[in-house]
Amino acid sequence: MIDIAPETACVLYLAVGLVVVASIWLATRKKEVVHFSLQHHTCEFCSYQYIKDAQKNFSRCPQCNLMNTK
Ligand SMILES: [Zn+2]
Repeated sequence: MIDIAPETACVLYLAVGLVVVASIWLATRKKEVVHFSLQHHTCEFCSYQYIKDAQKNFSRCPQCNLMNTK
């Protein structure tokens, strides 16, 4: 039989538990899929060109700070 101190046994128990929980979490987590579709957009108000997310119908111009549609 291996003689270990109670503190060592407690640390080992916690470490093994942490590894098990981390393994389960890594095995079951969903892969986050990020879809980016960026497009050039010209501001309706100041003609400033910037890049916006094509998925969104509205975007805020970084130059004049006004909302643009499509
Ligand atoms: Zn603008």
